[in-house]
Amino acid sequence: MDEAVLPRVVGRLVDGVPELLDSAQPAVSPFDLGLVRGDGIFESLLVRHGGVRGMSAHLSRMGRSAQLLGLPAPDRSAWASLAAACADGWPPEVEGVLKLVMTRGLDGITGPPTCLATLAPVPADTLRQRRDGVGVGLLSLGFASDERARSPWLLGGAKTLSYAVNVASLRHAQAAGADDVVFVSSDGLVLEGPTSTVVWAIGRSLHTPALDTGILAGTTQADLFEHAQHADWKTSVVATAPADLIAADAVWLVSSIRGAAAVTSIDGEARSDGGLTATVHGWLDLLDSP
Ligand code: PLP
Repeated sequence: MDEAVLPRVVGRLVDGVPELLDSAQPAVSPFDLGLVRGDGIFESLLVRHGGVRGMSAHLSRMGRSAQLLGLPAPDRSAWASLAAACADGWPPEVEGVLKLVMTRGLDGITGPPTCLATLAPVPADTLRQRRDGVGVGLLSLGFASDERARSPWLLGGAKTLSYAVNVASLRHAQAAGADDVVFVSSDGLVLEGPTSTVVWAIGRSLHTPALDTGILAGTTQADLFEHAQHADWKTSVVATAPADLIAADAVWLVSSIRGAAAVTSIDGEARSDGGLTATVHGWLDLLDSP
């Protein structure tokens, strides 16, 4: 699609009422704490065939993130209305990223949180990685796997706006020739990707790391495990070391927008997906083209 004509939508909640804005105009104050401190939370939802996917699960996680940051509980019906207003009229042939963003509001002013939504096309590179997979590098996150459970100010399990470390890790991996990252704890356990959950297959079973390591609870992983269980696969949450990932039959980085990206190499060592990615894409309802 021609970059110049990419559709973009911006909306906000004012006193709980959705309002669409001119997407070419600024929508955030320079004093917003989300902008200057990354003090806020967000969710990214896939818009496919014109419909918003996984609204309820994303709103539930947004509620948990708000609680962890001491922000007001998001009004589920107001956010659902804002999402619907943004997606209304979105071209069904274009996959979209709907971001719901809530910040602590303005610096120095006691006021309501800032509640914004944006909708833009899924980047072509993301769609390519869904199709072709990703090479990953293993990088240390610098914490022991039990540190975030002991230290709530580290905001383990919250989807905060503070993603500078996550994107820096991606730049680091990309400079070394990889596409993505798997974070490893200082005690040697697999955690998550900077924007994804790690899932691996051994025979007819799927596995993922435990949430008590402080990783984010992935909505895509939950959806995938539910479908796998219906197909009589086993699922488990388990502590794992990078060597176990290397030995698995297949590894994916899973997330709402990209879906399941097969891991095609780990630290430069090529690996197979065991021919399983089509099955996983089927479970995630990503097989047809939009
Ligand atoms: N882990 C992190 C750190 C993420 O940023 C994301 C997605 O944004 C995920 C996991 C996957 O979450 P979901 O499947 O709900 O998109």
